[in-house]
Amino acid sequence: MIQQLYHNPDIYQIHVDLPDNPLKYLNSYVVKGPTRHLVIDTGFNRPECQAALCGGLRELDVDLSRTDLFLTHLHGDHSGLVGLFTAAGCPVYMNEIDYTYLCDEYAGQAWQFIEDTYMKEGMPPEDIKSQFTNQARRYSPRIDFPIHAVADGDVVRLADIDFHIIHTPGHTKGICCLYLPEQEIFFTSDHILFDITPNIQVWPNMSDSLDHYLESLEKVRSLPVKLALPGHRKGNTSIVGRIDEIKEHHRRRLNEVLSIAAARPGSTAYDIAPHMTWSMRGKKWHEFPPTQKWFAMGETLAHIEYLLHHGQLRREEQGGLFRYYPV
Ligand SMILES: [Zn+2]
Repeated sequence: MIQQLYHNPDIYQIHVDLPDNPLKYLNSYVVKGPTRHLVIDTGFNRPECQAALCGGLRELDVDLSRTDLFLTHLHGDHSGLVGLFTAAGCPVYMNEIDYTYLCDEYAGQAWQFIEDTYMKEGMPPEDIKSQFTNQARRYSPRIDFPIHAVADGDVVRLADIDFHIIHTPGHTKGICCLYLPEQEIFFTSDHILFDITPNIQVWPNMSDSLDHYLESLEKVRSLPVKLALPGHRKGNTSIVGRIDEIKEHHRRRLNEVLSIAAARPGSTAYDIAPHMTWSMRGKKWHEFPPTQKWFAMGETLAHIEYLLHHGQLRREEQGGLFRYYPV
């Protein structure tokens, strides 16, 4: 399914379904220039996504021999099908931090860190094991491609126009958004989503990801935007209101963690998570599918880490587990 979103430059959206995933679909964007084309993000490395992406590219008559691929960040739903492009000889643009992480993830080291962390934070081994089928893990790309590394402030000519690179660490450490200043078009990736809240996790390569994320929201808040094109779901014509809502969401979450820790001093992160407010269509914590528990743990930990760094929570290690106390 394709849709034209803008004329001159000609920007299209390919709707890539993400089966059995709460994100529902990925927006792969195609910019068609007079001599070259640009594809932004791909979908998971699974046949359903490949069929949708390839169908869209065919319908748009995109010649891969004249196409560049931009990967906004490492997550498999954005980078999974990179192999289709590298096989056709397309140059791949990406931030080096996320590329390095993707290589480590491919080697298994990054997943090991998360498993060890969740174990110490009280998650039972059976819940951790159930994650071996996590979509992010199963449908990630094979890493055997070189990249053209992009960094904050770079201006890169793609699809015959100058794209400005904005590095917005938080959702991942290396996530980069694309901006067209003249048209005031902002490709927000998963930095700003409009009808769901971007997931914030704990990372082996970034301490206090929530603090970085809030800073990155502030970094783009004053950017003139007429069209915001997110990585998932519907876009918008401005970002300021949404940024303020997301900041408010995290303030509420932080207060929630503090009051749970105060009511139940000595809780592990796994004890705290079920008492948080999750919008899981009325489901209780014990009914959450394993992947949702995994993401909820990550969110809880990101908020705990922020509170530790800001001196509002205290951590003690007891019998190999981390327990939290109000300050
Ligand atoms: Zn993502």
